[in-house]
Amino acid sequence: MSHDQDFTEAAYRRLVQAARERYPFLSFADAVTAEAGVLWRHDIDMSMHRALALATIEHAENVKATYFVHLHSRFYHALEDAIVDRLRAIVALGHEVGLHFDRRFVPAMGPSLETAVAAEAALVERIAGAPVAALSFHDPDVGGAVDDADRIGGLVNAYGRSIRDRFGYGSDSNGYWRHAPLIELVAAGHPRLQVLTHPEWWVPEPMSPRARVARAIEGRAAYQAAKYDAAITAVGRENIR
Ligand SMILES: [Zn+2]
Repeated sequence: MSHDQDFTEAAYRRLVQAARERYPFLSFADAVTAEAGVLWRHDIDMSMHRALALATIEHAENVKATYFVHLHSRFYHALEDAIVDRLRAIVALGHEVGLHFDRRFVPAMGPSLETAVAAEAALVERIAGAPVAALSFHDPDVGGAVDDADRIGGLVNAYGRSIRDRFGYGSDSNGYWRHAPLIELVAAGHPRLQVLTHPEWWVPEPMSPRARVARAIEGRAAYQAAKYDAAITAVGRENIR
């Protein structure tokens, strides 16, 4: 059965409203001590544009989430002007920033996991113009065992022991429900909950998961082509096809 109708912006707003009825929305900085609440986390794997769309819905619904930026994404470039602008817009809406860390890049970024995480967090802080308080691992099943220390490189680890032991957990996985739908998880009423979404799965109208991925790829490609055409026209050069 298709779950595509559950992954629209309207369904997302209803999910946020249902969570707000039950939970205070927590910062990761409070996670280890909080008695009740939800950690509302977004791992931005494919689309900063979708991240800003969800951030705008959350702001309208008066809740705060944490957006984890992936510096090694193949789908967006975190240092690109259009992406930096959107990340800063997310911060301006009152949301927090995290580091979505791919441990395969430890050798390129520092001699140890701690120094590599700190180096990437410093870069994300500069581009976001906001502090980075937490990290999550990208594809924790790939690239070795999940490190479950509560803090790594000074950041709160979303997969740390304390959060794992104290919080219920659910995600939007691959754009369909592999486990309980998030709306059911929220309704189940665990006192503390961590909800992970990937913004690219949430779109204006129902689409298959694969079509949502294509939407992100093709939207970016069309934007780059239009930028090239506009730039060459602006300087009066010939756009030879
Ligand atoms: Zn990821």
